[in-house]
Amino acid sequence: MKKRICLFLLCLALVLPGCRANPVAEKQLFAMDTVMNLTAWGSGGEAALEEVEKLLFSLEDQLSVTRASSLVGRLNQGQTVELTPEFAQLLAGTLELSQKTGGALEPCLYPVTKLWGFTTGEYRVPEPEEIQTALAQVGRLHLEGSTAYLDPGSQLDLGAVGKGWAGSQAVALLQARQDVTGALLNLGGNIQTYGEKPDGSAWAIGIQDPDGDGMVGVLHLTGTWAVVTSGGYQRYFTQDGVDYCHIIDPATGYPARSGLTSVTVVAEDGLTADGLSTALFVLGLEAGLDYWRENRDFAAVFITDSGEIYATPGLDLRQCSYRTVEG
Ligand code: ADP
Ligand code: MG
Repeated sequence: MKKRICLFLLCLALVLPGCRANPVAEKQLFAMDTVMNLTAWGSGGEAALEEVEKLLFSLEDQLSVTRASSLVGRLNQGQTVELTPEFAQLLAGTLELSQKTGGALEPCLYPVTKLWGFTTGEYRVPEPEEIQTALAQVGRLHLEGSTAYLDPGSQLDLGAVGKGWAGSQAVALLQARQDVTGALLNLGGNIQTYGEKPDGSAWAIGIQDPDGDGMVGVLHLTGTWAVVTSGGYQRYFTQDGVDYCHIIDPATGYPARSGLTSVTVVAEDGLTADGLSTALFVLGLEAGLDYWRENRDFAAVFITDSGEIYATPGLDLRQCSYRTVEG
């Protein structure tokens, strides 16, 4: 009898996987030039990830710098564009971060990044005169209510903020559904956590070793966070023995060489995390820490060229030898 009950329970478990208390749904897609892995728990997980996938493709459609019909494409052709409230918020937030970081985050840098070939894959080291000409074309993005336009000849590239912002948009979608208890969205290394894991344990997010294949440490976090790393090792090319990375210092037009190999930013808001990871990589350790001391709406882990690791206080960073910076 006991055996029969056990067999019955086993069969039930096999035929009714959808009835488990907290089913897991998973999805992989390629969007915004990167592989994305999505995981969600809860009765609505499957349907929610379908929605998140649609959202990510539609955001890619609008943010792509290489599609003439995208929002960014139309602005880059000199059009005045009417924005939805979401895109108005994206552009306003980007302009604010640009201003607060003293221009280290420069959304209108496309004339320069294009020269280096990072958006097309046709990498090359431009001549100094070309860089000067391109730098002179870096104008301003104007936002007047829900209307946006660029200075003539200017070109927008939201590559530094798009994935982080997309993560926050996905969180808004999950929150509205109320049938997802937790989610882990890996948008090509831009991590967005949401809610709780089924077993209540913390999210464990590895920080990649910029000089190797492994991890330098693991961040433990509970709840909803954006965790974004910018690193020179993520996208670069080598010419005549010199590495050229995809993060450009807007002050020079050349790849940023600020003494850092990576910056990880943890923030409640994805746009802040993504925009700051890029900007602090340009600024370097000292200026980056000054920025943190003045703002404190995020936490960060900095890795220097010599492999030293510095973290702002309050992070639960494990399996890592690092120094906590002074407040
Ligand atoms: P990724 O998007 O590869 O995760 P980042 O978020 O750091 O990395 O963004 C880098 C991208 O942003 C570059 O590929 C380029 O398109 C653009 N970019 C490079 N330098 C800057 C900068 N200083 N300010 C704004 N955008 C930049
Ligand atoms: Mg970024």
